Amino acid sequence: MQITRNSIQTVKGPPAWFTGDVHIDAVAAAPAPSRVSANLVRFAPGARTHWHRHPLSQTVFVTEGVGLCQRRGGPVEVIRPGDRVLFEADEEHWHGAAPGRFMVHLAINEGDDENAVVHWSTPVTDEEYSAPPAP
Ligand code: MN
Repeated sequence: MQITRNSIQTVKGPPAWFTGDVHIDAVAAAPAPSRVSANLVRFAPGARTHWHRHPLSQTVFVTEGVGLCQRRGGPVEVIRPGDRVLFEADEEHWHGAAPGRFMVHLAINEGDDENAVVHWSTPVTDEEYSAPPAP
């Protein structure tokens, strides 16, 4: 058994990966041979990830606020607390807060053989972010 007390600093999401203010708390980082990690990610209004993909998929579970997400080629989707989103392996996508709301989600990732959990791409432009969401 291993108890990690509330001692891990919140990390600011770096501008190389995110637009706007994003803060990340490590939730789970199990040692090998496990490859699972989980993070609680807080997005300020308007903040979002860059376009990216996960080699072995990603699940996010929204816990607070109102968010947006989109897979490449699909519509922007509104996500709310209790919604779970599975981004398929290597599916290019982004996720973040709605323009006027915070959004918090738990993100669950699995590393591949090289321990990669994410491959980052270009920022989500204001035009992409502002596209009207699917009804
Ligand atoms: Mn993702």
